[in-house]
Amino acid sequence: MSDSGTQSKYSVNKRGFYGDFGGAYIPEMLYPNVKELEDNYLRIIYSESFQKEFRGLLKDYVGRPSPLYHAKRLSEKYGAKIYLKREDLNHTGAHKINNTIGQILLAKELGKKRIIAETGAGQHGVATATVCALMNLECVVYMGAVDILRQEPNVKRMLMLGAKVVSAESGSKTLKDATNEAIRDWINNPVDTHYIIGSVVGPHPYPDLVARLQSVISEEMMEQLQEKEGRNYPDVVVACVGGGSNAAGAFYHYLDNEKVQLVAVEAAGHGVDTDKTAATTARGSEGVIHASKTLLMQTEDGQIVEPHSISAGLDYPGIGPIHAHLFKSGRGTFVSATDEESVAAGFELCRLEGIIPALESAHALAYLKKAKFKKDQVVVVNLSGRGDKDLATYIKWFDEMRK
Ligand SMILES: *Cc1c(COP(=O)(O)O)cnc(C)c1O
Repeated sequence: MSDSGTQSKYSVNKRGFYGDFGGAYIPEMLYPNVKELEDNYLRIIYSESFQKEFRGLLKDYVGRPSPLYHAKRLSEKYGAKIYLKREDLNHTGAHKINNTIGQILLAKELGKKRIIAETGAGQHGVATATVCALMNLECVVYMGAVDILRQEPNVKRMLMLGAKVVSAESGSKTLKDATNEAIRDWINNPVDTHYIIGSVVGPHPYPDLVARLQSVISEEMMEQLQEKEGRNYPDVVVACVGGGSNAAGAFYHYLDNEKVQLVAVEAAGHGVDTDKTAATTARGSEGVIHASKTLLMQTEDGQIVEPHSISAGLDYPGIGPIHAHLFKSGRGTFVSATDEESVAAGFELCRLEGIIPALESAHALAYLKKAKFKKDQVVVVNLSGRGDKDLATYIKWFDEMRK
């Protein structure tokens, strides 16, 4: 993210759009908050003082750079040279912390005293509660009632870290409903509150802000591949897509390098042809969700269709506008993996490499079975998080499989 001036044809334009997608479809009452952010975010995040503090915390607090690990047994099995970008080794267990550290520094610079966030898997909630403790700011996290039940360890973590967790009881009681509640809070508290959005979603400038903060992932990949492969790009980058922040970070510095295939894996749930899915590009159409024009799953009269995925972090009915653009323009390859395929891929990584991945990341790994690689192709799978939070789900499947 040193190249503040670089514009790719896949990055956001001055009006906040990626091709046909993006923008800020906000209620009038939210306008001052969003405008304040839009007017200041680039100046602040590329200032020398911000960069110094951000880089310092990424290194000493998060543990970056995250390793780029050559997974030999996985490579042997799938006939390519497969690397894992180890975001699972970050403090708090996923890529989410890259974004929350950046946004809390931005919030402080804007003089904010109170932080709100939404969370699905609880990873973003934990990452937000963590940086609020670090910076001594009040923290309120909105979370769907269903997710509170299925991600209990993360709820307990947030409470330990001093955050208040508020249950969202509407709709499917998952991520989209938590996001609605957070936006409502922000409207009611415009002056002192910063809303830390957890993915490349929401009104402009959030998708761009979050992508820039997560772009440290591909920035490091370039350096690490240069060292290991003698060239700074792989042939393929694979990442799972919920809202799309880990994918945006892993793709960011390769957007204009057409030699690199960008593979985005969505959650198919029970299957893209069933009504229990979260595969937005397969099942979605153009519309507005959470103040952004993008692809989303909706009925003919524009009602949002409740998504389903075994992984709470992918259980979202839309995708960030950058991904809608990558899909429509053909720059990105969009595929999906079912619950079952992903759990199997998760177990496989445990047995082959001794790494228990997050269920979200297991979706990216499930692509390996579907792909046809050439022998010497270099493939990077972004391992977005670790599986500790998903143990209960894994164990349930494991017991079922042995019956
Ligand atoms: C939240 C989460 C995701 C999905 O979010 P993106 O914004 O699509 O990256 C993926 N993996 C893990 C481990 C997560 O916690």
